[in-house]
Amino acid sequence: MAFPETDPKRTVSELKELREITGDEDGAQRVAFTETWSRARDWLKGKMAGLPVETHTDAAGNLWFTLRGESEKALLIGGHIDSVPDGGWLDGCLNVMAGVEIMRRINAEYAGKPPITIKIVDWADEEGARFGKSLFGSSAFSGNLNMDEARGLTDRDGISLPDAVAGYGVDFEKVKDATEGQKNAAAYLELHIEQGPVLLDLGQPLAVVQGTCGVERHRIVFKGQAAHSGSTPMNRRKDALLAAAKMSLEIYAVTARNGGVCTVGSCITRPGIVTSVVAECTITLDQRHIDAASLATMLAEAKSASERFAEEGGVTVEWERIWQIAPEPFHPELIGFCEEAILETCGISHRMPSGPLHDAAEVSLAGIPTVMMFVQSLHGISHNKIEDTLEDHLEMSVLAMDRLAGKTMEWILSR
Ligand SMILES: [Zn+2]
Repeated sequence: MAFPETDPKRTVSELKELREITGDEDGAQRVAFTETWSRARDWLKGKMAGLPVETHTDAAGNLWFTLRGESEKALLIGGHIDSVPDGGWLDGCLNVMAGVEIMRRINAEYAGKPPITIKIVDWADEEGARFGKSLFGSSAFSGNLNMDEARGLTDRDGISLPDAVAGYGVDFEKVKDATEGQKNAAAYLELHIEQGPVLLDLGQPLAVVQGTCGVERHRIVFKGQAAHSGSTPMNRRKDALLAAAKMSLEIYAVTARNGGVCTVGSCITRPGIVTSVVAECTITLDQRHIDAASLATMLAEAKSASERFAEEGGVTVEWERIWQIAPEPFHPELIGFCEEAILETCGISHRMPSGPLHDAAEVSLAGIPTVMMFVQSLHGISHNKIEDTLEDHLEMSVLAMDRLAGKTMEWILSR
């Protein structure tokens, strides 16, 4: 199944146009709740102007385009036109613009009245670049937004998040009214650049995203004894850093056994002077896995290794959880359709989890069947002006998403 009306080259040229009007020599500048972001949204509205769609901004500032169909059951296609400062030209807006092209095709195919309703959503402030809180609009939509935390956030100039969003017509205390958007939502699809090197290394253009990874984030404190670096023989030391150093090696073995990724991202020693054995060493551990049981095993293995290293070195160890989130697996049937769509488009497909969180995770948490598709990132780099993807691959991603939308529409109708 392919749709001859779909013009993926138009998507690429529109993305270039958006880059032209909202970027500079340092990259994309569409930070949410700023003038440039608002200009990008006006441009987007202009692109939709020729279609018989209803446009509205919900209580959280998410921008919706609705093509009403015979049924109120709706297929949602989402993305985010906001960027980080000095961002890339594809992150977030590829998703939206692919959605626009798919909406055009569906409108043409069904002469303005598809069998189900089609909605495109541009989520507000996915990046959280200004207030340090990502997924603002989609977490308001899912109902998961922590109001107390968000209410207290301020930007670099001391402007509070509630004040900033008020300037764009959003009453902060009512943002969770955006949960109304869940009504009749039958499925959600999101395309995104991979933002990492996996597809690049495989030499493949597209992947099915199985879900977003669960995360375990911990602080691990080893305590030994400070001692003179000249007078203390090696066999008499209680060296807290030694145990921590063994941990930083061990996480490679843990991931070799279980998959996933582990990072020791910080290491602080005390007293931290050149003439003393380390008395106390604090490291952080970030573990991510798509499978909850494997994530639990990774954590258990890391804990038991830390106890073993502590005992070997005559030091103690304590763990403190900083944050955790469960894996959010996407919908199995939609994963199947996504794989078919990719195979029909480029003959080869890959399945992978997403390490970063995306708006799609919030939609899935709201109980709406969800799947994402990744397209290869050149350099494996994002949130940087060098972020790029081959135009061929961008076009394939639009065609594959279009096929996925077709399959998902049929599925919604059949339920
Ligand atoms: Zn993004």
